[in-house]
Amino acid sequence: MATAAIIMDGKAVGAKVRAEVKRRAAAFMAAHGRAPGLAVVQVGEDPSSSGYVLSKRKGCEEAGIASFANDIPASVTRAELLALVHQLNDNPLVDGILMQLPLPAGLDANEITDAIDPKKDVDGFHPHNTGLLAQKRPGLRPCTPYGVIRLAQEYGIKLKGLRATVVGASNIVGRPMALELLLAGATVTICHTGTRDLRSEVERADLVVAAAGRAGLVRGEWIREGAAVFDVGINRNAEGRLVGDVDYDVAIRRAGWITPVPGGIGPMTIAMLLSNTLDAATAAK
Ligand code: NAD
Repeated sequence: MATAAIIMDGKAVGAKVRAEVKRRAAAFMAAHGRAPGLAVVQVGEDPSSSGYVLSKRKGCEEAGIASFANDIPASVTRAELLALVHQLNDNPLVDGILMQLPLPAGLDANEITDAIDPKKDVDGFHPHNTGLLAQKRPGLRPCTPYGVIRLAQEYGIKLKGLRATVVGASNIVGRPMALELLLAGATVTICHTGTRDLRSEVERADLVVAAAGRAGLVRGEWIREGAAVFDVGINRNAEGRLVGDVDYDVAIRRAGWITPVPGGIGPMTIAMLLSNTLDAATAAK
């Protein structure tokens, strides 16, 4: 009979990362006479984005990072938004640029985010940074996958040699997650909507990252005894409660380690964004 899983506390580890960032920000301030700076660009007023933007700004404030708010009306033209990105690229007080997605219809998110200087791409989404990660020489790393790796390290989960299954293959989570795990020495399978037998891919995994955005997609009984389970998904269930992609109540009885939703990967993502901002600021010097 399996013992209960260790619940990985993303809030606590996120707070530890943020405390490191705060120390580094203070040292940066002492050395350079200014705080590291993060520009947060929000176009239009997507209500769920506004919540994220607010917590990113608050996170900056607490960590001693200057946050530059750029709240742009949804009517902005492609040329105006590109001009803003170029202006932020050239601004020496701005070390990191965050373009909150999704952008309003009519704006090509790829075109806009590709215009961000890769050295200021603290989201780690720029093809240059994805390419560096693919080539085993990471630059700025996508925050959510990087947060999963940091959490695994904090809980002493040795990734080398593990059989890892990533459920989800998006550019911002699934794909870079697979590259991070590969970099860490795991043997990686990536699942997506075309995967024929998701169950068997999950069943043989020592480590599962669920990032499909489908509540209950990963069934608890699929989890291998003792596996590490990272649930990236954020969904609202029928009762309006936030839940992940993993059937938590069953999975927790089989897993060795598991992240809750909320309080698992979410707080890690913001912490890694702040950490990336310090990395960008320090590298620019
Ligand atoms: P996405 O919709 O861009 O990608 C979803 C991926 O899952 C796709 O590759 C798709 O092929 C795959 N998928 C969907 N249904 C599937 C199925 N039935 N079987 C196998 N694969 C399936 O989403 P995303 O932006 O990558 O985000 C994924 C989830 O993670 C969402 O719930 C999102 O809210 C959440 N998220 C959380 C954080 C965090 O900080 N915790 C950060 C980013 C995203």
